[in-house]
Amino acid sequence: MFMKALLIIDMLKDFVKENAPLEVPESRNIIIPIKNLITRARETKTPILYISDSHREDDPEFNIWPKHCVSGTEGSEVIDELKPEKNDYIVRKRKYSGFFGTDLDLILRELSVDELIITGVVTNICVLYTSSDAANRGYSIVVPRDCIAGLNKEDHEWALKQIEEILNGKILDSSDIEWT
Ligand code: ZN
Repeated sequence: MFMKALLIIDMLKDFVKENAPLEVPESRNIIIPIKNLITRARETKTPILYISDSHREDDPEFNIWPKHCVSGTEGSEVIDELKPEKNDYIVRKRKYSGFFGTDLDLILRELSVDELIITGVVTNICVLYTSSDAANRGYSIVVPRDCIAGLNKEDHEWALKQIEEILNGKILDSSDIEWT
């Protein structure tokens, strides 16, 4: 039996809102399915971890992307629809992977988690690199395809294929996740 955790990656105002600096329009279609997973996770006492971009004003990432999710700004906050609660975990990251330079692995080990349900944006960027680092560390990966979004269909599909075939992730519909 796997001990699960629900990861919600970058469902932040600077990615989700209309005309946001790094808008991922598709992200607005995954809000309700993620919300449903949060409800199931709370019912089953499954830990919920928000993995959130949090950059310095002069972060080198802004050589590649428009300025987004600067620490302390409103844009770096989780969207209101998916607001974290008191006992949820917030992991702030500066790089694409939720594991890089963060205490995500430590938190998961302390909780004896061995299976990650990975949701959020962007499929071929933070979702993929976090999945890759999770697989390297021996976690099982479940990715509900209705709970992740990309910037375009091609990159989205490519990343899903990588997660399934190269990282041995399980790609399914969120309604098929088995909660215990
Ligand atoms: Zn970023």
